[in-house]
Amino acid sequence: MRVGQSPQGVSMRVDGRELLTFCSNDYLGLANHPDIVAALQMGAARWGVGSGAAHLVNGHFEPHDALEFALAEWLRVDRSLLFSTGYMANLAVVGGLVGRGDTVVADKLNHASLVDAAQLSGATLRRYRHGDMADARRQLMRATGTRMLLTDGVFSMDGDVAPLADLMALAEEFDAWLVVDDAHGFGVWGEEGRGSLSELGLIDAGVPEYLVQVGTLGKAFGTAGAFVAGASQPVEVLLQRARSYLFTTAQPPALAVATLASLAIVKSATDLRASWRARVAEFKRGLPPGIELMPSQTPIQPVLVGDSTQAVAWSTRLADAGLWVPAIRPPTVPQGASRLRVTISAAHTPAHIEHLTNALTGLEFTQNPDFPPPPC
Ligand SMILES: *Cc1c(COP(=O)(O)O)cnc(C)c1O
Repeated sequence: MRVGQSPQGVSMRVDGRELLTFCSNDYLGLANHPDIVAALQMGAARWGVGSGAAHLVNGHFEPHDALEFALAEWLRVDRSLLFSTGYMANLAVVGGLVGRGDTVVADKLNHASLVDAAQLSGATLRRYRHGDMADARRQLMRATGTRMLLTDGVFSMDGDVAPLADLMALAEEFDAWLVVDDAHGFGVWGEEGRGSLSELGLIDAGVPEYLVQVGTLGKAFGTAGAFVAGASQPVEVLLQRARSYLFTTAQPPALAVATLASLAIVKSATDLRASWRARVAEFKRGLPPGIELMPSQTPIQPVLVGDSTQAVAWSTRLADAGLWVPAIRPPTVPQGASRLRVTISAAHTPAHIEHLTNALTGLEFTQNPDFPPPPC
């Protein structure tokens, strides 16, 4: 483990060295934002630290309620429900809405938490080839019981976006739930940061009842926790039944105060969303020939390497040059698809991007597997 000695940011002190980082999910640079820090401090002064109990016991406080209300209003849905982590939110949504005898139809490249959630739910898990809607349709035709389509909005290791319009059409046709985990879309894009569905113009006329969205607060929001947002009925089911909601301590109310401050910034952060887009464009322009990017319009810009030893060697060389770019290897990604997962933040400057593209240009990619940097 590398040990950070300064707050999360595009420049971090790590094990006694200053590193320029291209690995966090803090896409808007809010993790150490002064207004959010102040909100957390004020929240702790007013509400203490621990919530002391689960939400349904006596751990649900006014800031939790206000945040759930604000998130629902922002996303124009009936309700939202707070969770301590995105992992737990996913366990709740899948396990709360389907079970034994039902079927989850899921993209093969879904985040590990969605895979685990499907397995733990007891429903039959049918996985379709990444983004392949013909395959998804085949799996739906074989499905029994209640059907659920389950997908990342933005895929966490590839940066591409799910074919959400087609998935919505399939959900309607097959009377299925559509669960979109937009951990990497919320805040990052869409009108007022409303995520991938908004970016693609799919919820301009309203959010359909079959659509349940999951968002995490530890990424673009810069705080911690997660939410599920949707129509009253499914959200109420989760509140009553989901074990990862019922049997865990509520997040600290001060954290909800901090996230309310973050949400206010996210909604109006048109400038920050323009910044990461500009930095991504600079990154793509500045890359040396021969370096292959994956097809992504998001802040996740993986450099495909293939061989895992080579990916580690590149990452090590970049670390030597003062840049923290993690090598992502199997089992996080498929065999032969190792990559450098470059993530770009609104907090990066053009000079930061130039530093990275220069380092990638200047590297002689010798293999040195003795010092593998850990993935972020
Ligand atoms: C990070 C992530 C999660 C987990 O969220 P945490 O709040 O970190 O537990 C879930 N889904 C996706 C797609 C993610 O990228």
